Amino acid sequence: MENLPTAVSKTIPTPTENPTRSLPEIFNSFSEARKNGFLAVKKLKDQGLGVVGVFCTYTPVEIFLAAGLIPVGLCSTSDETIPEAEKTLPRNLCPLIKASYGFAITDKCPYMYFSDLVVGETTCDGKKKMYELLGRFKDVYVMELPQSQTRPWAHEIWLSEIRRLKERVEEKFGLVITNEKLSGAIRERNLERAYLKELYELSILSPPPLTGLTQLSLLFGVQYKFDHQSKIKEIKEIIAKLKQSYEIGARPVPASAKRIIITGCPMGGVTEKVTRVIEESNGVVVAYENCTGAKQMDRQIRENGDPWKALAEHYLGLGCAVMTPNLARLELLGRLCQQFSADGVIEMTLTACQPYAVESTTVHNFFRDRNLPFLTLETDYSTGDLEQLRTRAAAFLETLP
Ligand code: SF4
Ligand code: SF4
Repeated sequence: MENLPTAVSKTIPTPTENPTRSLPEIFNSFSEARKNGFLAVKKLKDQGLGVVGVFCTYTPVEIFLAAGLIPVGLCSTSDETIPEAEKTLPRNLCPLIKASYGFAITDKCPYMYFSDLVVGETTCDGKKKMYELLGRFKDVYVMELPQSQTRPWAHEIWLSEIRRLKERVEEKFGLVITNEKLSGAIRERNLERAYLKELYELSILSPPPLTGLTQLSLLFGVQYKFDHQSKIKEIKEIIAKLKQSYEIGARPVPASAKRIIITGCPMGGVTEKVTRVIEESNGVVVAYENCTGAKQMDRQIRENGDPWKALAEHYLGLGCAVMTPNLARLELLGRLCQQFSADGVIEMTLTACQPYAVESTTVHNFFRDRNLPFLTLETDYSTGDLEQLRTRAAAFLETLP
């Protein structure tokens, strides 16, 4: 353990498997997954497996899985290292970028520490320029992401970027990624997406069988569980237990709670404060449209035909504000609002995130035309704005019919 990053807690318990765990115990294992997952990654590293750090939902992680590598999410979700990052990066930059960079330079992120390769994409300007700085002390590979899904050549560009990534991974780790291996990884991830979708779609029920905070901790935590089989088993177990408790009358959410869809920037860690203030004001978050939720799990990768083309098609179709126009986000949002019988939509934007801040007007207009109440809450990774968020969320929820 002597080579671990300095700030990693030395007392993190080894995750245990217990088939008779209660629902709260399973929920805990997900909410603690990020903290506990580093031991699992270390163990896998010790077995000689390679680790690839990723920042974005556009990253085609099936390539790493097909290569027998472990993809890990690197986006940081606390402000702990932002002061250190601000010695290099401008202060008026999105906290996600500053925190991620800060954790990297201070050696405080075990996942960054263990990453043999870091893969980024040319999404927003802040992120892509941060990758240049990160490249001074990590092996960073940046994919060129087209900024439009409607140009006829966008698909060709992205497909060639995916093939280039394949070559980079093969060269770096000295292996060959066959079509068969990629198809297997696609099937594996599709299965995970399908079960996670089934899990969050339980909140279509009224009242939902789980709170938005629980849903968030499950969706966020799952990315730090690295064993496919046991992960699927746990998700299935949660679904079965939630259904069973609901059938016998468990109602963790009051029937009067207003049903909210969250959209905007990715969430997790300190930004769960947004869900918390909603749920403390007689609201319940029934679905997350953002990268922590449905955006990742709503669609499946095509399992027939050329797997490389299917991969490119799938990832290019994601509805992020870095795309222009970003029609996929509106399509998904509209569908989720209907499916989950939403009373209102709350958008969370991170301070200084230009793509989401500017696109907010488009989303606002979209909901105004559909007569669905919409609120934007801008926040950062501090807790200093908690009272302000609470006041604004409560005022919004009170206006809902
Ligand atoms: S919001 Fe956009 S840039 Fe950020 S992780 Fe999601 S897809 Fe990537
Ligand atoms: S939240 Fe916005 S500014 Fe921050 S990394 Fe994502 S797209 Fe870029």
